[in-house]
Parts: sequence; C-alpha cells; structure tokens
Amino acid sequence: MASAFSDIQPDEYVPSEQHPQHGVIIGGPAARAKRIEYGILLSTMVLGSLGALYWTLTHATGWVEWSAFLFGFALINMGVGIGYHRYFTHRAFEAGPKMRLAIGIMAQMACQASVLKWAADHRRHHAFADGVGDVHSPYIDGHGKKMGKLKGLGIAHFGWLFDNTTSDMKVYGKGLIDDPQVLWCHKHRWSIAIFSSIVLPALWALAFGGPEHIIGTILIGGFFRNFFFLNFVMGVNSIGHVFGSQRFETKDGSRNNWFMAWMTFGDGWHNNHHQHPRAASSKIAWWEFDLNGQIIYAWEKMGLVWNVQRAPAYIRNDKGEWVLKKAKVAMAGIAEPEVMSADDGGILFPAKDRQPHIEPAE
Ligand SMILES: [Zn+2]
Ligand SMILES: [Zn+2]
Repeated sequence: MASAFSDIQPDEYVPSEQHPQHGVIIGGPAARAKRIEYGILLSTMVLGSLGALYWTLTHATGWVEWSAFLFGFALINMGVGIGYHRYFTHRAFEAGPKMRLAIGIMAQMACQASVLKWAADHRRHHAFADGVGDVHSPYIDGHGKKMGKLKGLGIAHFGWLFDNTTSDMKVYGKGLIDDPQVLWCHKHRWSIAIFSSIVLPALWALAFGGPEHIIGTILIGGFFRNFFFLNFVMGVNSIGHVFGSQRFETKDGSRNNWFMAWMTFGDGWHNNHHQHPRAASSKIAWWEFDLNGQIIYAWEKMGLVWNVQRAPAYIRNDKGEWVLKKAKVAMAGIAEPEVMSADDGGILFPAKDRQPHIEPAE
C-alpha cells in the first residue's frame, strides 16, 4: 500500500547519488514534487502581491481590506509559530486530536505546504544547523558547498525551496507520518490554502464592506498577507542566521534579532531557540517579547494543551555572561546547547553526540 504522503515522496524511488547526511534524498520525484508545490505557492503569492500593489494604487482601499490583512497576519503568525514550528516540529507541548487538527489547519492557512513537510524540513535544519545536510543555511548549500554571503542569504531565504534535495519523511517525520490529524491536514493542504487566501478574505469583505471590496480584500488580505509574512518566516532562516546577537555558543549561525522576533511573535529569538529548541517560549531575558509562547501558556492554563516544555531560567553573572540560575559556579552554569537528533522526532540528545558539522564560511 502506498504511504499517505506518497504524493510528495513516492515509495519506490531509489536515488542514484547518496547524500553524505542521513535522511537527505537527492533528486527524483520528491525533489520534482517539492519544486512544483513551492513554485505554485510562491508564484501565486508574488503575483497576488503585485495585484495588491496595483489595486492599492488604482482603487480606494480602506479598513475592510487592511483589517483583513492584520487579522490574517496575526492568525497565520500564530499558525506558523505555534503550529508548524513549536508543536509539529518540536513537540513543545501535547494536545488532543481536536486541538491538533485546529492547530494544523491554522498553520496551513499560511500556505507554506503541509505540516508534515514543514516539520520534517525544520527538524533536519536543527539536526545539521549550518552544517552539511542543513535544509536552508546561509553558509552552505544543500549539498554542503560553502557559499558567499549574498548568495547564501538568497539560498537560505527562497533558493532552497527549489534545490534538488528533500528530507526523508521516514527519518524526519517520526510521530507525524502516522498521526491521522497530520495526514488529514496533508491531504487537504490545497483546500485549506484556497480557503485561507480566497474564501476567508471574500467572506470578510462581504461581512464588513460589500461585494465591491471582495477583489481588493483577497489581494491584500489573502495573497499579499501570505507573501509579506513568508518573508519573515524565511527571514529567520536567512537574516536570523547572520544578523543579530548570539547569547549562546550554539555552534551554528543562529542569532537573536529583535525585529525578526517582533514580526514573528517570538521566533526571531533564534539563538535562544537553537539553544533550547523544545521550549514553548524562546524568551530568556525579560525584555524578549514572545507572544506565541504566551499564547501557549494561556492555552495550558485553559487546559487545552499540557506537558508544556520550558527553558531553564538564566541570570547574568558579573562577567555579563548568561548562566543557568540554578548553577552556583558561573562557569559550570554555561549550558551546552540542546540538539535535536537526526531522526528522533523531537527528543534531544547532548551536543557532544551531534553529527559532525563544518564551521560557517566568513
Ligand atoms: Zn535556525
Ligand atoms: Zn526550530
């Protein structure tokens, strides 16, 4: 029997070329399916955004169109940060079947492929962050070749969507490929994308404006909203691995970047996140804003989710280093980064057992 995800990774394909890292497939129907899917998603977002620009310049737009944009932006921001990222990739908390389905639909409303594909790719990112095998590093490409800064930023932002490597679902999809809610979301990803980008903005226009607002609201509150936010999600992979500060020595390029963090409701504290990938909130210092983490904590209080993972508390020692609050001796308190293994589907193992990685090129 064909697997439930054979549309993006056919069962019978045996690659002629082997990737140096575990669970990375070179070429074949999976790479073709990936390029086609991302090609459709990205080109509709770009064309729709150009349409939105044209519409804004030639028509009177107002609060109907832009409130749809803001509402949708907040919704897909939560969907990506809490859904695709913290729940399905990192298992930052547990949730029942109804909640899993709701979170999966909310994530896929951002139109960034199925939760299965997104989570598998992102687990591979953490397994090899900025080393050979990383999905979208600004330092080395999908085959482990070092890149210059500008090319690297481009590949990490959008270029990786179209390279010829894919993440093996059987390796990186553990706990997902047999989850009925995940497979339902995977199967219905196109319907969810159309509902989110077209149907919902059209209904919003009818409810708060009238039929004359439908086209503008779909363009601005649907396609442009998706593309605008996509740039921040991809920006965490590109900008968030190059520009910003590093509180922890995570042995990758991950950075804390306050602007990316504000725009992604918390995911831009990306160095914190690589240190503690399973934590439901990436906030370490008091000033770090992580709305998605606060929402997860609120859901926990409401009994909707449980077993919420938390990073340990940190304080600053007199040298200005961030050390674990519990540790009495400063040096002993500098924690080793937690690293997701290649194939455990979210369970961590110590950094010393990590796959070999190469130092990022300057
Ligand atoms: Zn990263
Ligand atoms: Zn992550």
